[in-house]
Amino acid sequence: MKHNIPFYDYTFNYNKNSKNLKKIFHRISSKGSYILQSELSIFENQIQKYTKSKHVLGVGNATDGMQLFLIASDIKKNSEIIVSSHTMVATASAVNFAGYKPVPVEFGKDLLISPEAIEKSITSKTKAILITHLNGRTCDMDKILYLCKKYKLILFEDAAQALGSKFKGKLAGTFGLAASISLYPAKILGCFGDGGLILTNNTKLYNKLKKIRNHGINDKTKQIDHWGFNSRLDNLQAGFLSYFFKSHDKNIKKRRELAKIYNNELKYIKEITLPIFDNNSKNFDIFQNYEIICNNRNDLRDYLKKKGIGTLVQWNGVRINNLSLPNIKKIKLKSDKLFHKLLLLPMNISLSNLDVKKICDEIKNFYRFKK
Ligand SMILES: *Cc1c(COP(=O)(O)O)cnc(C)c1O
Repeated sequence: MKHNIPFYDYTFNYNKNSKNLKKIFHRISSKGSYILQSELSIFENQIQKYTKSKHVLGVGNATDGMQLFLIASDIKKNSEIIVSSHTMVATASAVNFAGYKPVPVEFGKDLLISPEAIEKSITSKTKAILITHLNGRTCDMDKILYLCKKYKLILFEDAAQALGSKFKGKLAGTFGLAASISLYPAKILGCFGDGGLILTNNTKLYNKLKKIRNHGINDKTKQIDHWGFNSRLDNLQAGFLSYFFKSHDKNIKKRRELAKIYNNELKYIKEITLPIFDNNSKNFDIFQNYEIICNNRNDLRDYLKKKGIGTLVQWNGVRINNLSLPNIKKIKLKSDKLFHKLLLLPMNISLSNLDVKKICDEIKNFYRFKK
């Protein structure tokens, strides 16, 4: 029988852990603890210790997280906020709904926002940068922090894909005023639905966000002293997440092992540029995704599909700088050329080493045949 390799197996986490998860479901549900209960604060504390961020707040999802921290930051309305052109539309929509203008800029060969492009895009209206630590890799924080200082810009982080990723030993999501992490099922730490976290070292901002996520209610006085939203991480999800978080470092290790196999197998194919795989350097990459730059992207994708191997074009190929929407300028960027060559290969803990070897063999077959 042919063994298919889906891009991502949404049944894996539950099926592999169903016995323990059912116990957690029973324990929490039987005491009726669904909203803002102890399991949530326990999980928030775990992430707080892990990231060494001063404060962690569970929210509905990472998109809400970004919108909430942007709103809470009180930047002057209609200011420009710089974002990468290679990020989810969520990054830009959060900026838009918070009352600012998203300004997309180039990404580099590492697929991360280019510090040089940031500098070129700064205007008198620019007040902040919202960087995306894409694919589990932290941006070049030396250069970006330097720019923030030089131009007096506030730094925010879309760390949706980057829980555990580091730059010079410091975790993604702990560099700026606030950061957002996604707990969407296919993310490296995923739950059974939507979920997200805000990280911040700023106590004033944290106290404000705590109200804003819960209808503006001050949890001590019970008074409403701010306009708010309903965006709380479910207590049940928090219970499941604490359980999965115990394996977080082990899962990262496994992903890095799979990345190493991809790297060793594919590095000789000249039609492909691989993600950087570096040991002992500045970056500790957690490989949320394994995104290659490849020739004949669509043909390769079709070929692999015929062989039973799933791949994905990130954001369905939507570029932030190519959106026909209000409040964002449609612009051409040099990195657009790269964009059409990007492909995500399967990268998750349900894969065996042999699965990855099989994927690599088929990629080699494809390019041999192409010649
Ligand atoms: C997944 C993702 C988001 C959105 O996260 P949600 O929790 O689904 O809102 C935002 N930015 C990036 C880079 C993502 O990968």
